[in-house]
Amino acid sequence: MKAVVTGGAGFIGSHLCDYLIAHGHEVTVLDDLSTGSESNLEQVAQNTSFELVKGSILDQSLVSDVIAGSDTVFHLAAAVGVHTIVDNPLRSLHTNLHGTENVVEAAVSHGARFMVASTSEVYGKNDADGLTEDADRVLGSPLKSRWSYAAAKGLDELVAHIYGEQSGIPCVITRFFNIVGPRQTGRYGMVVPRFVSQALNNEPITVYGEGTQRRCFGSVFDIIPAVVRLMDTPAAYNKAVNLGGQEEVSIKGLADRVLELTGSSSEISYVSYADAYGKGYEDMQRRMPDTTLANRLIDYAPQRDLNDIIT
Ligand code: NAD
Repeated sequence: MKAVVTGGAGFIGSHLCDYLIAHGHEVTVLDDLSTGSESNLEQVAQNTSFELVKGSILDQSLVSDVIAGSDTVFHLAAAVGVHTIVDNPLRSLHTNLHGTENVVEAAVSHGARFMVASTSEVYGKNDADGLTEDADRVLGSPLKSRWSYAAAKGLDELVAHIYGEQSGIPCVITRFFNIVGPRQTGRYGMVVPRFVSQALNNEPITVYGEGTQRRCFGSVFDIIPAVVRLMDTPAAYNKAVNLGGQEEVSIKGLADRVLELTGSSSEISYVSYADAYGKGYEDMQRRMPDTTLANRLIDYAPQRDLNDIIT
């Protein structure tokens, strides 16, 4: 594979690079290092099959130059993190929508198959028992405070779908649900690294809201091979596929688990959403993937549970 990974210096992208290089592929990363960092790429930086191009997915001609000659594009670059999105809704909408258009257009014009990273956020406030990929669930009830992110990702899916259908070039859309692992930082609001760092530093663990909101965390080490397998699975082409963990936990339950596993004596401190993110911020109560489709397509069966993910 001659792969391009946009956002490859980020958390998920850098693990994908490690995996691809370890499996003998050539990898070029396009990343503007806005939330990612070169240190995430230490494992692959010296490999002769690896190259990092610093630049933006908003630079149309750069995107085209980087993708020319590749056969596979994994598009993970995006403006992410609750603060980025809530503080700069239009800027993140612009990056996530136009950046994806540039990447998908270049992939199609150079004949490269492509994967677009989407998110559980496209399900809005829907807190059904297990979220299936049915189109009628998507953006049925938008989450106002993160609307720009959810809307851009929903439109990204549509862009990928249309270009995939019209060109006949294989395309896969992955909907990630709360993926966690090494190199994810708490800086942009990600809850697991934030809780672990607070526990290890004996600082109060800050639970936003009442802590009753429920999530299902997935390990990046389960996700990466699944993403690569989906690219090799024709039945997955032009489909959106949920990928995530299977163990549901409340955020208060997560804080308790982090305290137990780190042996920390930190207190739990409750912070209102308004204090954490500003007035009017909303969060969804439940976020649980139905991974039946991934199971059917690629025998997706995550191996790591919440304790593995935290430790
Ligand atoms: P991340 O912030 O670690 O990675 C995003 C990368 O994109 C960073 O390296 C950043 O520098 C880069 N980037 C941002 N804007 C760019 C631009 N204009 N041009 C080039 N590069 C740019 O976040 P992540 O968690 O690794 O997320 C990767 C992808 O997965 C994103 O598309 C995100 O929306 C999606 N996703 C992640 C999760 C999760 O749980 N981590 C959940 C749902 C969806």
